[in-house]
Amino acid sequence: MNKSLKLFTIFGITVKVHVTFLLLPAFIGFSLLYAEGGMAALRGIVLIVIIFAFVTFHELSHSLVAKKYKTKVKDITLLPIGGVASMQGRPEKPKQEFLIAIAGPMFNLVLAAILFYPVYFIIGEGLKGMSIANLGFGSWKAILLYIFWINPILAFFNLLPAFPMDGGRALRAFLAQRLPLAKATRIAVSLGHTFAVIFGLVGFLAWHPLLIIIAFFIYVAASQEEKQVNLKLMLREFKVKDVLNEKIVSIKRNTPLTEVLQLSRKTTQGYFPVIDNGALLGVISLQSLLHAASESLEDKTAEDIANKNVLKAKPDDNLSSVYDKMASRNQKVVAILKENKLQGLITIEDIARAYRIEQKDIN
Ligand SMILES: [Zn+2]
Repeated sequence: MNKSLKLFTIFGITVKVHVTFLLLPAFIGFSLLYAEGGMAALRGIVLIVIIFAFVTFHELSHSLVAKKYKTKVKDITLLPIGGVASMQGRPEKPKQEFLIAIAGPMFNLVLAAILFYPVYFIIGEGLKGMSIANLGFGSWKAILLYIFWINPILAFFNLLPAFPMDGGRALRAFLAQRLPLAKATRIAVSLGHTFAVIFGLVGFLAWHPLLIIIAFFIYVAASQEEKQVNLKLMLREFKVKDVLNEKIVSIKRNTPLTEVLQLSRKTTQGYFPVIDNGALLGVISLQSLLHAASESLEDKTAEDIANKNVLKAKPDDNLSSVYDKMASRNQKVVAILKENKLQGLITIEDIARAYRIEQKDIN
């Protein structure tokens, strides 16, 4: 599920909303309409929109600090469970990562401080001392109180010292100043798993389905973070030539696609370099070949479907920089050239295999 709608671009960062996010105001709106009527439904939807405006500002706070430390921020996506800023690479120094991590919750705390007096002045005595758990949607003043409280709640939740929360990132950065990155990550990840289990148990015992979903999300995201860090650390140790398969079948540019299809049955290659006079012209993926075959291969040659904008690297390049390039451009293959002569291809599967072998070595 990768369907996101673009909302707007600010500071060079695109803010998108995932299609599943749209279910949230619809769900809240309909259930309130059914239970409490039209005005309550309207208030509920307004509240959701404002909460997610706060979430967007929270993510933008991370992003702006990240940009200051030369970490590229591609976009911010709003999901029903919160916002995600997709950043490329990590800042060089743990201290920078720490500042990026706490920038989001700090925004919420500052906003809460700013809103405190105006909100409590407007709502007057009536709602003072009321628990937000049973405020309901009966008045705009109740919505105002929610709007105030959502900020300290977001700050508190995000500052839990556990991956994937901001607090977990800040903790890892703090520990990484004293410990190796892998160990610092493992501690923050274990805390993430612990919190996830606690949330899950509370969710089941007190029956809060949303909490169970959040627990599941935290558990998976924490595990992914650990894998990602270990992968990065491993890739730093290797050069492109260490994993490069040089015995690769390549294709001449004028080879008919019917022939390429026959050839593809005899190898396990997922990608074929297309060569023109000894120089690389582009790369054909098995996927694009099958796509072409689903229409018609008649009169078509390798050149017609070759991707000519394929990423390129050198045998002596660091594997981690090649991986970063692939991830940032969303590409699954890189052509490896030495003095303009093709040496082979590296695919995302090659990198995954090298990682699996290396993990086996360690354990
Ligand atoms: Zn955050």
